[in-house]
Amino acid sequence: MTGRAPGRSWSGTVDYGPGPLHAPASVDELQQLVAGSSRLRALGTRHSFSEVAASDGPLVTLADMPLKIDIDTAARTVRVSAGVRYGELALAAHAAGLALPNMGSLPHISVGGASATGTHGSGNRSRSLASSVAAIELVTASGDLLTFSRQGDPEIFDGVVLSLGMLGIATHLTLDLVPATPMRQTVHLDFPDSGMDEESLAAMLGAGASVSLFHHWDGHVAQAWVKQRVDEDETLPEEWLGGRRAPGPVHPLPGMPADFCTDQSGEPGPAHERLPHFRLEFTPSSGEEIQSEYFVPREQIGAALAAVMPLGERIRPLLHASEVRTVAADELWLSPAQHRDSACVHFTWKQRPAEVAALLPEIEERLAPFAPRPHWGKVFTIAPETVRAQYPDLERFRTLRDRLDPDRIFRNDYVDRLLGA
Ligand SMILES: Cc1cc2nc3c(=O)[nH]c(=O)nc-3n(C[C@H](O)[C@H](O)[C@H](O)COP(=O)(O)OP(=O)(O)OC[C@H]3O[C@@H](n4cnc5c(N)ncnc54)[C@H](O)[C@@H]3O)c2cc1C
Repeated sequence: MTGRAPGRSWSGTVDYGPGPLHAPASVDELQQLVAGSSRLRALGTRHSFSEVAASDGPLVTLADMPLKIDIDTAARTVRVSAGVRYGELALAAHAAGLALPNMGSLPHISVGGASATGTHGSGNRSRSLASSVAAIELVTASGDLLTFSRQGDPEIFDGVVLSLGMLGIATHLTLDLVPATPMRQTVHLDFPDSGMDEESLAAMLGAGASVSLFHHWDGHVAQAWVKQRVDEDETLPEEWLGGRRAPGPVHPLPGMPADFCTDQSGEPGPAHERLPHFRLEFTPSSGEEIQSEYFVPREQIGAALAAVMPLGERIRPLLHASEVRTVAADELWLSPAQHRDSACVHFTWKQRPAEVAALLPEIEERLAPFAPRPHWGKVFTIAPETVRAQYPDLERFRTLRDRLDPDRIFRNDYVDRLLGA
């Protein structure tokens, strides 16, 4: 478990600091490392765009630890190593006749990292991925391995699961699974300008178990990706709400190859080959990018988009594409979807960080009336006190952190700045 340089994030835009990066080969080794550390921060698969994982102190990766996936078919749960990627987990669940309740747009991210930041997919009835966590095993600051479960620790569990890496290093998580039901995915293109009013957006976003709308801030939806459960939803017609069925597979970002994307033929298939936009064996999205995303109340998504639309001409030169998704409310203390059915205003930016950073405050000012909560793993400039005001359970979280990490072993500048030291 010798230390090496931590390097940079997947997109190359975040420098993780001087390190060293430790790579323990077992839970025992991890416990010894934590017990002997005064600072330590975990790295997952490095897909965050914010500095949530960066540190000026030592880091740890679980990449050298055994990757375990133990499915309990009777209980419909899986106990999985924190470093396992969702794509691999979904394949194992499928082989057991089960499925994950939801997935993000890419299957490449780790279960530990996604849970820690409130990663989500899309769907009016789909909660954040962390909401499926039924138990989490954490090596806490003392080096002890503690298990917290939804049933055994109801007072604090909602604070432990989504904790931005502040409470300890997660070694394993137990997730809820659901019976595997086939899904189909279709893409419709070029909706009329009227397609971005509240009513039309609600109709589109409600058309399947998981819907993503891509647009370029020119007043209309360019692509609607609709992922339906075959046993619940009717296939959409070729002409739908003024949009037309895509003649062949498309990529959500202009100029990118469609082979990177999941099946759009409308044929039924496994959920894990329809829910993410991107296939595990290919690069997701563009790579040359930065992402920002804001959660707003779902019923106000039309108004929120309309508020930002006047900035369209300044957004477009910096943008690959924007996406609208929905997330059902959850209870997790630091979840951007806590207590609020949400819609997400997402930007995949070109890698022009200074220009993006200069424009974000104007976008955020226009979103301010909608009390936007930024995605923890993406880039934003909202003032820390404004972010804090969005989290009514922050004091409870601080109390929990005082208990589990009194000496702030797991701190970094990002969490100090946003949530207070
Ligand atoms: C192309 C692309 C598409 C994306 N699509 C989506 C999407 O559809 N939905 C969405 O919500 N987000 C999306 N994201 C963002 C991404 O899902 C999140 O940033 C997520 O946190 C990445 O997980 P990771 O394993 O890479 O974590 P990292 O970025 O490596 O780490 C994130 C945080 O988790 C902590 N952490 C990691 N492992 C552990 C552990 N074992 N114990 C304790 N803490 C840990 C780290 O300390 C850090 O604070 C996307 C990102 C990219 C690059």
